[in-house]
Amino acid sequence: MRTSIQWKIVVIYLSVVFVIMVVSGSFIICNIEDTHYEKIKRELMSSAETIEGRLGVSSGADFEESMDKVESTLSTMVALNQHAIYILAPNGEVLLGSKSEPAVGEIMVSDVLPEVIAKKTPQTLEWPLFAYKEAKYDYIEHDRPILDATTGEILVIICVRADATDIYDNVFSVMKTITLAAMIAMGIAAVFSAIFARMITVPIKQLTKSSKQLAAGSFSRIPIYSEDEIGQLTQSFNYMAAELSKTMTAISSEKSKLEKILENMADGVMAFNRQGVLIHANSVCYEMLGNTNMDHRFDFIFPKLGVEVSFDKLLAEESNGERVKNEEGIMMALEDKFYNLHFAPYMNARGESEGVVVVMQDVTTQQKLDQMRKEFVANVSHELRTPLTTVKSYTETLIDGAIDDREIAMQFLSVMEKEADRMTTLVQDLLELSRIDNKQMQLDMRPLDLKEIVKETIEAQKIHIEKKGHRIIYEADEEMIYNMIGDSARIRQILHNILSNAIKYSIDPGTIHVKLYKNPNIITLQVKDTGIGIAKPDLERIFERFFRVDKARSRSQGGTGLGLSIVKEMVELHHGKISITSKPGKGTTVTVQFNVS
Ligand code: ADP
Repeated sequence: MRTSIQWKIVVIYLSVVFVIMVVSGSFIICNIEDTHYEKIKRELMSSAETIEGRLGVSSGADFEESMDKVESTLSTMVALNQHAIYILAPNGEVLLGSKSEPAVGEIMVSDVLPEVIAKKTPQTLEWPLFAYKEAKYDYIEHDRPILDATTGEILVIICVRADATDIYDNVFSVMKTITLAAMIAMGIAAVFSAIFARMITVPIKQLTKSSKQLAAGSFSRIPIYSEDEIGQLTQSFNYMAAELSKTMTAISSEKSKLEKILENMADGVMAFNRQGVLIHANSVCYEMLGNTNMDHRFDFIFPKLGVEVSFDKLLAEESNGERVKNEEGIMMALEDKFYNLHFAPYMNARGESEGVVVVMQDVTTQQKLDQMRKEFVANVSHELRTPLTTVKSYTETLIDGAIDDREIAMQFLSVMEKEADRMTTLVQDLLELSRIDNKQMQLDMRPLDLKEIVKETIEAQKIHIEKKGHRIIYEADEEMIYNMIGDSARIRQILHNILSNAIKYSIDPGTIHVKLYKNPNIITLQVKDTGIGIAKPDLERIFERFFRVDKARSRSQGGTGLGLSIVKEMVELHHGKISITSKPGKGTTVTVQFNVS
């Protein structure tokens, strides 16, 4: 059971008052008893001494003679004080007595008499401590033997008895007073202790109430009524509440800041507690892994994703200081995405591992770029190695004697020239792309009429068109100016690449339809061929560097696989758009659009 401090204080106060009253009362009673006893004892002794002196007895003969004198002395003594006086024979028999009880001839019954007879010395009845409790004696007795001067034997014993009821009456009256005083004192103590206890408990109750409110998040101040310890405690509490409020505000703003950061991060973040239970995951995480892969435990999530990481090992290694920092993280592929996972155990204030934070970075773009870079280097190496190998083998054959056969030598040299041209084209294309990539392409942007450039390019390609037996249809409004802003050399290059593709990839003599038209804002150039066409999956990759539907055919036609990539980059540099539609076996249409200037 919970006893309030108020009751404890009251009980302690009352107990202290009670104990004080009992102890002091006992002392007082003892003292009163003792004082009374001593006083009566002294009176009894002096009475006995007086009687002895009056008797003047020193031998048995004297006693017989002075029997009358004894009697008169006795009556005088009795008259002088209220004590009972007896003259006893050495065996305790009453010889004379001032009271009828015990009668003459009877043996005096007394606790002290046997000792007097044995020791032959005067004795007084010993008064026991707190005798009133048992009311053991109702008298106090002093016995004084008178000894024979010659034989030393007891002649007579003077026995003086006083009534003890006085002592008891006195003690009981004092006890009554003390009990009354104790009750009044306890009553006063109860009232004062209750008031005092209230003075302490009221502020404490207020503090308790406020601390409960504090725990519930309300930081109200408590009024201070005094400057004593309670006042100081209240002041400290108010200070603590104010500091706590500041800290809580700081923590909550820090928390919301952190939440905002976590939510707006491009990376997925998950936090697990010591037991490996998921305690936080930002929305990016759910987007990255999908709801089906997300679970509430570390051991369920990562094995499902095919990532072998032991949670316990991570924690253990961190606390042993064994963890080797894995800056690169663990790569994970999920569907068509790549994620880099970083596992970082976190500590509590005592330096013990508290859990693990997992950061997931979407590295799909880097991964793809990396892949493209690798493929690009491999492609470049391959594209350069092929003509170089050809040139080298032809050179060796020439050195080995083929040079003497002029016809073969000329044939070889023309192959070597073709390969050298291919290499030059390749290197030029690569340089062009690198300039575009590094934003070093200098464009000489001027107003121009696209119709003129189209006509010039067709004219320049005419020889190849005719050589292949293709028919070319050029369609444009001669009266109209297809005015745009552009670098004429680059526009020419765009047209050249598109047109030469149409020529290259039309095997049977076909028709190449070049159409130019314009609406108020857009100039459209369409090059349509009746060539081999491109299948849909290849069409999606057509602008990739080094992508070729048929490598051998492209190479035989002097292609590098870079033409359309350069075209796309250049069209975009002119803020234009390019699109290709195609049907295998039917033909391809390339559409380029520029803004009217
Ligand atoms: P290449 O130097 O090989 O011609 P391009 O980048 O110009 O490189 O073209 C990439 C690939 O697209 C070619 O290898 C070819 O397979 C295909 N291609 C381009 N234009 C046409 C077209 N008009 N008809 C059919 N296939 C084409």
